[in-house]
Amino acid sequence: MTQIKHHLNDQLLMAYSAGTLPEAFNLIIAAHISMCDECRARMHSFDAVGGAVLEETSEVQMSDGSLEATLALIGKGPKDPIKVLEKTSSSLPQPLWDYAGRDLADVRWRSVGMGVKQSILKTSKDATARLLYIPAGSAMPDHGHNGLELTLVLQGAFEDEDDYFGAGDLEIADQHVHHTPVATIDQDCICLAVTDAKLKFSSLVPRIAQPFLRI
Ligand code: ZN
Ligand code: ZN
Repeated sequence: MTQIKHHLNDQLLMAYSAGTLPEAFNLIIAAHISMCDECRARMHSFDAVGGAVLEETSEVQMSDGSLEATLALIGKGPKDPIKVLEKTSSSLPQPLWDYAGRDLADVRWRSVGMGVKQSILKTSKDATARLLYIPAGSAMPDHGHNGLELTLVLQGAFEDEDDYFGAGDLEIADQHVHHTPVATIDQDCICLAVTDAKLKFSSLVPRIAQPFLRI
């Protein structure tokens, strides 16, 4: 595993710890945490604070089990760091197993054109999680964002106008970011991408395809 340089911010870690995020965001955050010692340690410090608050507020009601569901996701990763380290190069992060299978070979890809493939994961509808397969050297159409987009690199690497993102790195893009992610030439790039709003494409072809691809 290469050195992880791009991490979760405090806002996302806190919201994750509090269990207030859509399922798709919980999924990508749990996946990053399972790959990243630094964010795992930061999350435990947020959990400790959250736990103290919960103990003081005895009448707190857990309305829909979202906290339990989130804790279950967390439990799968950090409590078992040895297994995470032992994983083979083609295995997916453990939080993704129930959604996409254990191995990249299990993923059911659908072509979206230009060699790019995607696999949309089944999560609650308030946000969308998809695995993306970008052939080495290929570019995604340039786009802006109407909401928040998180992209976690699972294999290979990509570059955009902002920076270089290698395995384990998480890019956080919002309304202010317009970019053209390009997979590096040495290896096909596989990412997990989560969005809570449609992307803004500048060129016509991806705009036409947008409703069919759910991007
Ligand atoms: Zn991290
Ligand atoms: Zn983007």
